[in-house]
Amino acid sequence: LPLIAICGRPNVGKSTLFNRLTGSRRSIVGDEPGITRDRIYGEIEWMGRDARIVDTGGVIPDDEALIPSEIFRQAQVALDEADAIVMVVDGRTELASPDMELSRLLLRGGKPLFLAVNKMDTESMQVQAENFRRLGFRNVLPISAEHGSGIGDLLDEVFDILPEMETEEPEATMLTAEEEMAEDEDGPDFAPVRRLRSHGEYDSKETKIAIIGRPNVGKSTLLNALTGTQRAIVSPIAGTTRDAVDEVVERGGHSFRFVDTAGIRRKGKTKLMAEKLSVIMARKHLEAADVSLLVIDATEGVAALDANIGGYAHESGRSVIIVVNKWDLMTKTGPDGMRLFDGKPPSDQKVYEQQVRDALKYLDYAPLLFISAADGKNIESVFKKVELVARERRKRVTTGQMNRFLERVDFQKASVPMNKRVRIYYMTQAAVAPPTFVLFTDKDVKLHFSFERFLGNQIRDSFGFIGSPIWFKIKARN
Ligand code: GDP
Repeated sequence: LPLIAICGRPNVGKSTLFNRLTGSRRSIVGDEPGITRDRIYGEIEWMGRDARIVDTGGVIPDDEALIPSEIFRQAQVALDEADAIVMVVDGRTELASPDMELSRLLLRGGKPLFLAVNKMDTESMQVQAENFRRLGFRNVLPISAEHGSGIGDLLDEVFDILPEMETEEPEATMLTAEEEMAEDEDGPDFAPVRRLRSHGEYDSKETKIAIIGRPNVGKSTLLNALTGTQRAIVSPIAGTTRDAVDEVVERGGHSFRFVDTAGIRRKGKTKLMAEKLSVIMARKHLEAADVSLLVIDATEGVAALDANIGGYAHESGRSVIIVVNKWDLMTKTGPDGMRLFDGKPPSDQKVYEQQVRDALKYLDYAPLLFISAADGKNIESVFKKVELVARERRKRVTTGQMNRFLERVDFQKASVPMNKRVRIYYMTQAAVAPPTFVLFTDKDVKLHFSFERFLGNQIRDSFGFIGSPIWFKIKARN
């Protein structure tokens, strides 16, 4: 992983910044031979990318006389190891001589440099940050490590120059489903999926697929139908849970990797256990996937648990295909010629689809398929749709296209309260998988959800992104 170093003299707010950036993901390097005790390493994730971060000034001697040499040593560590260096100064005090010394050293080193002018808690203070340009840094950013303002901009700039690296294999320490259940006894935990990971470089020839859904909707039957047509190549991936096994199907030069197929087949002993397990599995499988197949039992329609699992899929940033299974049962007739599922949702596909969409509103971007896994009906279309949405989520729109798009949008049509409205100067696509757009606006506000929806739909009308959620990020210009 690329490394970001934080430097600065004591009391400028380095550790506050470090803690804000790493949250709880920090580790103090122990007394191992060859490793200095005073460097604190942590990990950070920004817009789907990971980096390591080091606070070079973990321990600074109290002795004033020692400070310059300590500063020198810090700078050397940063220059030797880091891919980017963030120097922190206190924006509320005059520049001190250690600031000058450190900046001179860093500027000579030739590494990408960023000057974070800290303690700029209010907007009016932020203009003062400009005074620090005389240190000679090109990138000067006002921040408040304490309040969190300016941190996003700082990270944007830093990650912009970091080298792209492959993300590492998932950690080997993931809990098994049973262990997770033992840890969590008070009912299903419906918090959003938190540990979002990007999957490094995209292998356009392979798509990782999660089959998710509540018990008995037909997940294992679908898996069998998808993998059974051809001999599936079963391959365990190093570093995953002991019982995690993927099955890979090759078709037309494309690999479809079904993640953790042992998990898809696993059944809970009681109904409650099975339901809990299906949620835990869904979240685990989503983490490892690019595309998810949300399986619904046609004879039962969308239940609360389906909606919950669908919610996780939506939050995870993975692409989603809604698969309505057991469609054969909806059209079966009894000996008397009457429909077996009379009184249940209508078997007319258009009407039925509308009911599903009404119950899963947030997944309005997900294609919907009717299949019968048991009869092997319409299985081919699953492969086709997976390939389509896998491609769509990697699509990139240029800033030029985006600007022309913005000119066309009629923002009067967005139903957002006047005081929640923001002015968008321009926007760019900052990431793919899922497509993520940065909006440069006049105010630093969270987008109103109906505005996000409106803009997302406008983007879809113009550019597609079929099956993928669209993420937004605000960058306020003041
Ligand atoms: P899972 O718990 O989601 O993995 O569900 P299973 O794959 O074990 O399926 C649950 C039950 O539904 C089994 O009895 C399957 O035979 C049945 N089933 C699955 N798919 C279909 C289908 O397309 N049509 C019919 N009629 N039954 C199905």
